[in-house]
Amino acid sequence: MSTENNLQNLYNNSIKILTDLIAFKTISGENNSSLIDYCDNILNSLGAESFRTYDDEEKRINLFSTIKAKKENGKKPIILSGHTDVVPVSKGWSSDPFLATIKGDKLYGRGSCDMKGFIACVLAYAPILSNSNLDRDIHFSFTFDEETACKGAPILIKELKKRGITNGICIVGEPTNMKIIDSHKGCYEYTTYFEGLAGHSSEPHKGVSAVEYASRYVNKLIELRQKLKERKPKNSIFDPPYSTLQVGGIFGGIAHNVIADKCYVNWETRPVVKEDAIFLNSELDKYTNETLLPEMKKVYPKSSIEKEIIGEIIGFDRVQKSEACEFVSSITRDNSRAVVSFGTEAGLFQEIGISSVVCGPGSIEQAHKIDEFINLDELKKCLTFLEGVKNNSVF
Ligand SMILES: [Zn+2]
Repeated sequence: MSTENNLQNLYNNSIKILTDLIAFKTISGENNSSLIDYCDNILNSLGAESFRTYDDEEKRINLFSTIKAKKENGKKPIILSGHTDVVPVSKGWSSDPFLATIKGDKLYGRGSCDMKGFIACVLAYAPILSNSNLDRDIHFSFTFDEETACKGAPILIKELKKRGITNGICIVGEPTNMKIIDSHKGCYEYTTYFEGLAGHSSEPHKGVSAVEYASRYVNKLIELRQKLKERKPKNSIFDPPYSTLQVGGIFGGIAHNVIADKCYVNWETRPVVKEDAIFLNSELDKYTNETLLPEMKKVYPKSSIEKEIIGEIIGFDRVQKSEACEFVSSITRDNSRAVVSFGTEAGLFQEIGISSVVCGPGSIEQAHKIDEFINLDELKKCLTFLEGVKNNSVF
């Protein structure tokens, strides 16, 4: 069979698999087990070995699957990584978001570019990998709930550490038009809950206003935001170049003349370096525990301030000599490096020592939008790229 025919077959198969994947309504937070079973079956039938990790309810699953090397050659294993969840759909789609629809040179559907397109390519290509004389392991990592502050990946990463899989090259196939992304900021989200004591507004000294203490907390956040600006690293590659902080909402109180006993604040920070997040949290916790709480407790000992971590997507740091980037560049012949403003799982892999890169089919412009699509050409580009991965992994 000619190579061209081969590519055409692969391409047709990737469309078929993508159509199947889109039909699984794997919105973040929902049960993704049918999709995981589907992927596991394909890989299993090719002789791959896999293990699963779960959330507390065992409703959401990460799959990690391996096509073993036929002869080890000391080369680092490759991890092809994608998240299986998609963001919810809002009204206004021109077609059923969970029914892949091809119009012209585009395939429409929720998750088509973010990021079931990549997973479809990888699964379509897997039979070739299993038939090749691999001289290194090829891993497949499919996680849950990436879109809600990377809830699934840390559970998998913990297991990888336990199993000693901390060496390798990880390609995170988020939509980048197959360009190399080698860095992004972190994204940490929190909700802080204040509980005081209700009372009549005519006697404020007898109550503890959760709203007023929350306001002081917000003021502290704004003060610390300025400090973050001053901590701007030299030669920062980001825009803006410093760690940002934003208060997204304050909720509390019931009436003009009632002391509010409850209030909560939603806020987030996007650190350019991990140290900024550590600095921010320790300053904030110090202010909470040494200033605000003692004042509240003086009037009402049961007062409380609880900071809930909604998610801490760790940043992905630029590395001067990145094996993962060089590996991708050697295949695509594209030496460009860029940063993005969205978060990915790359920082989590990087943290345990796995060289990582973000590179995948489709454009982030279409992600999370009504009428999300992937250009069919991008699937072909991704399949050609996987051919390159294989060529670099055989003896
Ligand atoms: Zn994504």
